[in-house]
Formats: sequence, structure tokens, C-alpha cells
Amino acid sequence: MEQKEDLLKDIISHAKEYGFVFPSSDIYDGLAATYDYGQLGSELKNNIKQYWWKSMVQMNENIVGIDAAIFMHPTTWKASGHVDAFNDPLIDNKDSKKRYRADVLIEEHMEKIRQKINKEVEKASKKFAEAFDEAQFRATNPNVLRNAEKIKEIEDRMRTTLENNDLEGVKTLIEDLEIVCPISGSRNWTEVRQFNLMFSTELGSVAGDASTIYLRPETAQGIFVNFLNVQKSGRMKIPFGIAQIGKAFRNEIVARQFIFRMREFEQMEMQFFVRPGDEMKWYNHWKAARLAWHKALGLGDKYYREHDHIKLAHYANAASDIEFDFPMGFKELEGIHSRTDFDLKQHEQFSGKKLQYFDPELNQNYVPYVVETSVGLDRMFLAVMSASFKNEKLEDGSERAVLSLPAQLAPYKVAIMPLTKKDGLPEKATEILNDLRFDFNCQYDEKDSPGKRYRRQDAIGTPYCVMVDHQTLEDNTVTIRDRDTMLQERVAISELRAKIDEKVSWRNLLSK
Ligand code: ATP
Repeated sequence: MEQKEDLLKDIISHAKEYGFVFPSSDIYDGLAATYDYGQLGSELKNNIKQYWWKSMVQMNENIVGIDAAIFMHPTTWKASGHVDAFNDPLIDNKDSKKRYRADVLIEEHMEKIRQKINKEVEKASKKFAEAFDEAQFRATNPNVLRNAEKIKEIEDRMRTTLENNDLEGVKTLIEDLEIVCPISGSRNWTEVRQFNLMFSTELGSVAGDASTIYLRPETAQGIFVNFLNVQKSGRMKIPFGIAQIGKAFRNEIVARQFIFRMREFEQMEMQFFVRPGDEMKWYNHWKAARLAWHKALGLGDKYYREHDHIKLAHYANAASDIEFDFPMGFKELEGIHSRTDFDLKQHEQFSGKKLQYFDPELNQNYVPYVVETSVGLDRMFLAVMSASFKNEKLEDGSERAVLSLPAQLAPYKVAIMPLTKKDGLPEKATEILNDLRFDFNCQYDEKDSPGKRYRRQDAIGTPYCVMVDHQTLEDNTVTIRDRDTMLQERVAISELRAKIDEKVSWRNLLSK
């Protein structure tokens, strides 16, 4: 079994070598936390999107999909709370050029003092053994008292400076505490800046606050502001859902781990509008449905774990993550949140428009409650890649790199190969290719030995290889090789379509 750290490295280099994922602007040495999907990556990504869209939108009578703009009216983000609350106070060290969250630096400093106190207590506890009264010691020992007082003072100063947005005060606090950069060891700090994780830009040619707009940090708000448009134009009846796939942007401070945490990423989100009081029923429904969606891919149930939140965001009354066992360990892949009526109510307040639903059964108007499912497309991509990528040792002692992708997600479903480049075999293979490509994404490959060609297809996850040989010219049969078993079977050309379809059809996956 490969070491997990090595696995991530291997996936990154495999992804680059075969055209799945490249660092963005590679010829300029890349741009931090930004990646480009290559010729095979974009196929795989499109297939993941299709799986989600088909299963969420097309297989559900009461869910419809939209495609909202990335730019939204700036008030959207005031209403959602992102302008005020999507902030971190930042400070840079001028020598190491490293960026830190100022509050985290101060927190870490307090933690060190806390550890000093704990050491003092531990020492005394050893010294006095049974006779030790910890509470009394903490209340009377001069060293402990002095340090506890220090912590309280720092806490008070940090709270007031942050609450009053007194960033100079935060910097003075860092200087007074003589906090050093863990990398350079120096105290050469920049000013503290409030850092909003939203990317902003100017609309039109007039500069100034009034024209500042944001790149959306989540797709959900595009759904909320369209709630009435969709409900009315689609005559939707509660409960119903609105789904969307699209880009989101966050200026993450610590961005790392390949495509797991990026500054530009894609989300697949669905907001399900329900009657107030029904939200827990639907929350549990979607938790189970989303986990089943993941498991149906067949990557292995052991990769998934549910994590219910104990501490909830101010707008939520229940929240749970579906975590995936990434090469870096179990981490959030998807969030399922019961968001109450928070967002619609906020938008009512800020827009002055009623965002309500008339429930004919109850004969009553109300602001619906919302259950949200939100999965990162790029994290899905990484999950699928990391569970599918294997370096296998074969019986003959050789090795093969294989991507055992779920067949529906594989970039190519079948590779068509003539055994040799002569005797009319390429022409026959092309004939088969031109027929199959109406139904499946196919690749034609005639270069190198058959063994090498098979390896190449294994490495990009193609479920089937079809070999056209001399017998084909005589009896219209070909061999078809299975990626996973590596077994070959002779079949009539006329049967190929049905055989491939049986493995790669969406019906197969969606009916699970
Ligand atoms: P995390 O705690 O990992 O930062 P989050 O809780 O902020 O994630 P949400 O705001 O709930 O994430 O976003 C929903 C989904 O969007 C996440 O489950 C994740 O799959 C995806 N996502 C969020 N931030 C990023 C990012 N920077 N890069 C890639 N995907 C992301």
C-alpha cells in the first residue's frame, strides 16, 4: 500500500502527465491555488457534473436547475452577511514574506502563556503530591496569577480592538507582546489589514465604493435571489428545489493541497424550499440521499464518513458534512445544511420585496425554510481520482498504473485500435470508430505495440479497448478488452454497442 503523502504526489504528477490537471499559467511557474483542467480532466469534470445534474435535476420532478451570473448586485452580499462577516485580519512579516491571520498569532501567543501556567501547575502537583489543591494553587500562586492576568489583559485588548475595527491597536498589541514570525524569527511586521475573503472588482469605469462588486464566494445566493422568479415562472409547489453548478471564488489565506482548496473553484449546490416545520424531515432525507449518491459510484463505502456539526453557523439549525478519505485524510467533501428562513428573510429585508410562498393547502403565506446540499466539484474530482488511482503489480512481475474510474465518469469509454497500420486494418477500425462515436466518447490509437497501447488506456481510465485484427476482415468480429480484469473476449462488431452501453450507461448508475 502506497504511503498517503506519496499518493497525493503521484496523483498530481499523473494528472499532469496525462492531461487531467495542470498548474494554471504553467509557463509562468503557475499561480497559487489555481489549476487548469486539461483535455482529459475537462471530460472527467463534465461527467461528474452530468452525474450530479442528471440525478439532482433530471431525475427529480420537483427540482429545476438554473445558471445565475457570477456578478450579483452588491447588496446581495450585505444581506447574506458576507460583506461583514467573511473577514480575516491579516498581517505580513516583511522578512519571510509570510502572511498570517493577526488574531491567530495573538491566540497562539496566549496559548503559550496558558502552557506556562499548566507547567507551573504540573510542577507543583508533583512536588506536593496528594496534598496538592489545584484550585487553591491557581488562585494564589503569584506566577500563575500574573500569567492569568496577562492572558485576560490580552484577551480584552484583542476583543476591543477587533470589535472596534482598530487595526492599529491590533498591530500595537502584536508589537507589545513581542510576537515573532515563526519562519524568519523577526518582528518586522506590516500594518494589519482587514481581509475579506471575497474578491472584489469595479463595475464599469467609475471607481469608488459605490461601484465595487464581488466575485461570488458561493453559488447559493444566485438561487435565493431567483427564488420567486423560478417559483412563479415554473409554477413550482413546495417542497421544491433549485440547483446550480458554477464557479465560486474565495481569496483563501492558506491555500494548498492541490485542487482541494483553491481560490477559484466550482460548486454544485441545491437549495430545497420546504414548509416551516418540515425542515428536519427533509434535512434527514437529503443527508441520506446525498450519501447514497456518492456511494453509488462504487469507489468503496470505507471512503465516506458523516460528521454532524455541534457548533452551528448563526443561520443553521442543523448541519452535517460528508467527509471523504482523501490522501490527506478525512476532509469535507459536501455539506448538508438546514438554513432555516435566514437567507430569504435577509433578502426580503434588504430588497424590500416579499419572498414568500402561498401554500394552497394551508391557505397561508410564509417564507419557506431551506435545506441545502453543497458539494465542491473539484473536491469530487480529487476524490474520484484518488480512490481510482492505483499502481498495480501484475502476475508476470510487471507494473501498471491504472485509473479504475467509474465507467460513466471515464473521459473515453472505448479505444479503437488496429493491430497493425497496414492490410486495411486502420480503415476497418476507423469505420467502427465512426459508428461508435455517435454514442460514446471514443479514442483512436494505432501507435506502439498493443501492450503499450493498453497501458496507456489503463492509465487514463478507459473501460474498454477494441482491437481490430486480420480475423475482423474475415468475420466482422473484434476483441474487446476490459480495463479492470484485463481479459479479452471476441465479439461481433454488431454487438459492440450494446456491450459497451451495458457498462457505461447513465441508467445503470442512476438506477442504483
Ligand atoms: P472548508 O471548511 O473546507 O473551507 P467550507 O465549510 O468553507 O469548506 P462551504 O462554504 O460549506 O465550505 O462550501 C461548500 C463546498 O464547497 C465544500 O464542501 C467544498 O466541497 C467546496 N469548497 C469550499 N471551499 C473550497 C475551496 N477553496 N476549494 C475547493 N472547494 C471548496
